[in-house]
Amino acid sequence: MSASVFASLVALGLLAGITAPAALAADCPGHPDAIGTSRTLVVDPREHRLVGTMQYRETLPLADHEVVLTFDDGPLPHNSNQILEILASQCVKATFFTIGRMAQSFPEGVRKLRDAGHTIGTHTQNHPLNMNRMPIERAQKEIDDGIASVKAALGDDAALAPFVRIPGLMRADAVEDYAGSQGLQLWSADFPADDWRHISSSRVYDLAISRIEAKGKGILLLHDIQARTVAALPKILNELKARGYHIVHVVPASPDRPATPTEPQQWLLHPPSENVAISHWPKIPNFVFAGADMLPAPSLSDVDWLDGQPIAFAEPFDHARRLAHGIPLPRDAPWPRLTSLPLENAAITLPAPEQSLFEMPDGLRAALQSAAAASRRAEQAASNAQETRTKLVSADTGNSRRMNHVKPHARRGAGHDLGRDQRHGASRVAGRGTRTVAPGHHGPLKHLAQVKKRNV
Ligand SMILES: [Zn+2]
Repeated sequence: MSASVFASLVALGLLAGITAPAALAADCPGHPDAIGTSRTLVVDPREHRLVGTMQYRETLPLADHEVVLTFDDGPLPHNSNQILEILASQCVKATFFTIGRMAQSFPEGVRKLRDAGHTIGTHTQNHPLNMNRMPIERAQKEIDDGIASVKAALGDDAALAPFVRIPGLMRADAVEDYAGSQGLQLWSADFPADDWRHISSSRVYDLAISRIEAKGKGILLLHDIQARTVAALPKILNELKARGYHIVHVVPASPDRPATPTEPQQWLLHPPSENVAISHWPKIPNFVFAGADMLPAPSLSDVDWLDGQPIAFAEPFDHARRLAHGIPLPRDAPWPRLTSLPLENAAITLPAPEQSLFEMPDGLRAALQSAAAASRRAEQAASNAQETRTKLVSADTGNSRRMNHVKPHARRGAGHDLGRDQRHGASRVAGRGTRTVAPGHHGPLKHLAQVKKRNV
């Protein structure tokens, strides 16, 4: 095949499936019905820094009916392990965006991802949901610390991909610039399945399938810490196979693994037809948000249901934001944030639908609390040891009765307060929940005490 013919075929996307070595394809020993991994796509983060049409112009260069699976917020032993088992049984490789603090608490969970051959990216150190508003120095530290923590858990720099997803997709120009300067690729997504919300696993399945079908290909955003995702995943994979979809594994380019050759238009969700002159693309109107009636109604797949009423994505987070500050804020109009209409500057980034998309994942809150609890148990053990030594000393000085009376009581009191904070945390709305996990510079005990003070 001549070079020019090869280039033409690549341009037409005809070689999309064979330009990288296939991973496990249909060969999944013992699992003849597995969907498998159809191919490995090698990407160079320096060439395409921002991917995922939920926020960006470009997404991964997938062919029609190709899906990339991503899982955020882990590792959390129980649920993440089940996700790994499901993926293994289907011979599917995915990309995991791990949280630094979770990696610190459960380092073996990160190593399991590596040993299973999945791609590991990062998702900041503490999962703050205000990366779009925090000082850039803090945002940089969140990204850097997240990478350092996951690398430490892996004990192997090479096992970490330079892929980062911003918590809640709270993008900001400065954060994107920083990521680019560090050779990182920022991943948004092409469709979520709302698996961080209080919905059933069958609803997660429905949303995943309907949104994949609506776009035909792309990056699916899931959470490996969620039980409802564990429950929905087998059905999602089976249905994708039944509908003729293929799973693509994405890995970063390296000196001995060159990027899969692609043409620029392959990085667009819907490349222009070859019959349309390139100069006519993209045909972006100078759209002005003159009024809500100018906007199209959202599709049903963009709406969730609560008590039988359709609730826009915007609702939960806005609600949380109002409550988080203890004062009512003006309601945002629900529709404009979610529109996918191109703006005048769509070539750069789309507006910020992400601010209204995510609330603090319940599973994540529980997971971070569980990570904090693990640290707290360690501290408690240390403090018990210290106390035992204190008792021994006080017994020697004849004050053992008083010490035995006072100290356990004080300890019970502190434990009770912490427990109460955690229960408050479980029902706390997203904005507050964020605060409970954001600072990473204090020990869990001190931090929880600070949270309690604020609640008062
Ligand atoms: Zn997340």
